[in-house]
Amino acid sequence: MSIKVNPDKCTSCETCVTSCPFGAIEMRDGRAFITESCTLCGACIEACEFKAIERSGEEAVAAAKDLSAYTGVWVFAEQHKGGIASVALELLGEGRKLADKRKTKLSAVFIGHGIRNKAQDLIARGADIVYLADDPALKDFNDDSYSAILTTLATLHKPEIILAGATAIGRSFIPKVAAKLYTGLTADCTMLDIDPQTGNLHQLVQQGCRQLSQHEHQDEYDDRCRQMVQTRPVAARNITRHLGGKGTRDEKSDNPGGK
Ligand code: SF4
Ligand code: SF4
Repeated sequence: MSIKVNPDKCTSCETCVTSCPFGAIEMRDGRAFITESCTLCGACIEACEFKAIERSGEEAVAAAKDLSAYTGVWVFAEQHKGGIASVALELLGEGRKLADKRKTKLSAVFIGHGIRNKAQDLIARGADIVYLADDPALKDFNDDSYSAILTTLATLHKPEIILAGATAIGRSFIPKVAAKLYTGLTADCTMLDIDPQTGNLHQLVQQGCRQLSQHEHQDEYDDRCRQMVQTRPVAARNITRHLGGKGTRDEKSDNPGGK
């Protein structure tokens, strides 16, 4: 996967330079230039009103098919005014079960401001790792910042599954993340299981008053390792509490997606 500037479309406005959270864009010969610091977060693509920045789609899909590097189950741990949302606790319980079946780690992505002291609670609830983005710019939910952070982390660490709640916040930015990662997204899932050998998710999806069984294997992406699911709150009632767990905190106290 790569991010490229089309020099024929670039007007030298420099908007993308300030939009890049990683300082990965320079102006060279009057045109924007993507440097090796690029993490593929995609923030500049949306920032360029002239559509001069493009992601190489073919390369992205090809990269998605190389599944060997993808491992671990992730949960987007939603918070409201610094308090961990109940849906995050439900997902940690479900994620713990999936991770145990796959014999892999469960990670929580925790974004906001003034939430640092709550990260340990996520570990107590079953997470092995917490990716913490704590910054004043993240005090209020912003779908651009949240999607940039989650996309960047997923690009860097390559989880095989990401779970998020089908809440107002989740619905607002998770589809963006799925699009940026070139992966499929299953919405309104009410029950999850996993094939421990293949890693394919088995899901029960609510459609109106019907529940449909769905085997999550989005062939167009061939993405065993890039499955994104939004579950309805109270879909998972068995919350596993891991007191004194062996989790670690991998802090991202800078703000890769903040403005
Ligand atoms: S925002 Fe777009 S047009 Fe402006 S410098 Fe960057 S690539 Fe060029
Ligand atoms: S994709 Fe993200 S990291 Fe790469 S140049 Fe664009 S904004 Fe910067």
